[in-house]
Amino acid sequence: MNLIQEMEVYAKENGIPIMEEEGISFLCEWIEKNNCKRILEIGSAIAYSAIRMANVYEDIEVVTIERDDDRFLAAEQNVRKAGLADRITLIHDDALNAEVSGMFDLLFIDAAKAQYMKFFERYEPYLKLGGWIVSDNLKFHGFVAHPEIIRSRHLKQMVRKIQKYIEYLQNHKDYVTEFIDLGDGIAISRKKSEK
Ligand code: SAH
Ligand code: MG
Repeated sequence: MNLIQEMEVYAKENGIPIMEEEGISFLCEWIEKNNCKRILEIGSAIAYSAIRMANVYEDIEVVTIERDDDRFLAAEQNVRKAGLADRITLIHDDALNAEVSGMFDLLFIDAAKAQYMKFFERYEPYLKLGGWIVSDNLKFHGFVAHPEIIRSRHLKQMVRKIQKYIEYLQNHKDYVTEFIDLGDGIAISRKKSEK
């Protein structure tokens, strides 16, 4: 088994929600096609997607933020094992407070669903014009399309927040958004080159 396969098994056994195969392969193809070289990720978990993205080209740099202690430690180990410590920067912090520097070609939001709008607003100033924001899990296991099946109040609130975020993306004057029905649902928003 190679490192990627080991990470997939580890994620499954430990209930870590890494990106589904069709979602991550789509994202990697997108990065390749659009020549994204500096990537900011919100929600590293064990650095599975960070490593997959960094492997697209030899000169890709990924900055990724994770608040959970155990996952951050696992991410550090995996990045070292992958030999990518010089190209993947792991930030151990809450993304609502973390500081980044420089400009990015792509922002990948894959952390707490209820905070997507906050992550977007905090980090979109670091996105170049013409750059992309990819948001994962917008179908939220199918609940977004079928809110009537939800009993729990907490889940209902979560789904409402995701719906609000989708509307926010659709109405954002500086971005054009496309929704892609792959994995758990992905949105790709492009920052307009001109205002
Ligand atoms: N992108 C990863 C999966 C991320 S799972 C992959 O596909 O391989 C989501 C992660 O976001 C979890 O590990 C969780 O701890 C982290 N997270 C959630 N809210 C966060 C926040 N506010 N700041 C930093 N990390 C956060
Ligand atoms: Mg996800």
